[in-house]
Amino acid sequence: MAVFSQIDFADHEQVVFVSDDKSGLKAIITIHNSNLGPALGGCRMWPYATEDEAIRDVLRLSRGMTYKSAMANLKLGGGKSVIIGNPRTQKTPELLAAFARALEQLGGRYIAAEDSGTSVADIKYMAQFTRHVAGIVDKPTDDGMRSGDPSPATAYGVFVGIKAAARERLGRDSLEGLRIAVQGVGNVGFDLARQLKDAGAELWVTDIHRESLTAAARDLGATVVAPEDIFGLDVDIFAPCALGAVINDDTIPQLKAKIVAGAANNQLAEARHGAELFRRGILYAPDYVINAGGIIDVYHERTGFDRAALLRHIEGIYDNLMEVFERAREEERPTGEVADTIAEERFTR
Ligand code: NAD
Repeated sequence: MAVFSQIDFADHEQVVFVSDDKSGLKAIITIHNSNLGPALGGCRMWPYATEDEAIRDVLRLSRGMTYKSAMANLKLGGGKSVIIGNPRTQKTPELLAAFARALEQLGGRYIAAEDSGTSVADIKYMAQFTRHVAGIVDKPTDDGMRSGDPSPATAYGVFVGIKAAARERLGRDSLEGLRIAVQGVGNVGFDLARQLKDAGAELWVTDIHRESLTAAARDLGATVVAPEDIFGLDVDIFAPCALGAVINDDTIPQLKAKIVAGAANNQLAEARHGAELFRRGILYAPDYVINAGGIIDVYHERTGFDRAALLRHIEGIYDNLMEVFERAREEERPTGEVADTIAEERFTR
């Protein structure tokens, strides 16, 4: 199995393979770039069919974290980890402890947070064995305390980012009366939809989980549509908040929205789909720029939590996006490409 020659290797600084016979742990920890600080990224547990698949995934994701943190002006590098296994059947305290001890050995060069297949509770458990975990501190909010879950911060960042996109593409500062389609009303999507509703937007939502839809219709007055109908709605903004790769050859021709701006990671199936949105005059808010609220939240937890400072930092997503939009306009380039250029300028500086 090739690692250095993988297309996704992309100048990774360090790739660590971890195994522990007793607990059955098989994990890969990757540090893409640490110029700006320690590499922070989620720990994913997934039953990868092959080791190649796991390596590809972790390399691709850790590189993405370098770009996301640099773009969000965080003193963090990019890294990620994957534990190979089924989180429902193979996640034991022994396995989590063995993984945490491997983190400790890295001495803080990589810091793990929750991701698919791991929970805040799992990461809290790891904290008994290592200092190098994040996203576990309970934080004050207007409605009381919340756990380390970064979703509310992500949702607020996407809300702010949608305002920047509306300014750029529609020439307006208010969301009052705008028609917005939200795909996926889970942790982030529902909270985002609530903020959009409070700002006066008219909402269409879809999900595959019936209860979330019932709540969105009842509490937010949203119109519910079938999952396959969300792309072609006559709306101003399409906000993908469910899965990746939803901007693809099938969906782009259906889009009537003038803006694509949402929380989902890896929204473009391929980079060329960003170019196609650009060609059609659809403004794309690059996913890792607009959905950085969660990592900003985790970062602030590490620097001593100050809620006002956190909110200001999340609100900086507006300026980050405006920088991307303005440069894309001047250079006549797709926003995704421009965001990559700006991030590279920041982390290679
Ligand atoms: P979630 O699992 O709570 O919500 C996702 C929702 O999408 C669920 O309600 C699910 O039923 C729905 N869904 C799944 N498949 C669907 C389909 N085909 N059509 C319509 N709906 C579908 O996840 P989340 O934490 O809200 O995250 C949403 C997205 O944002 C994910 O892509 C995630 O990677 C990304 N993201 C989340 C955070 C965060 O802080 N939670 C941070 C950055 C990025």
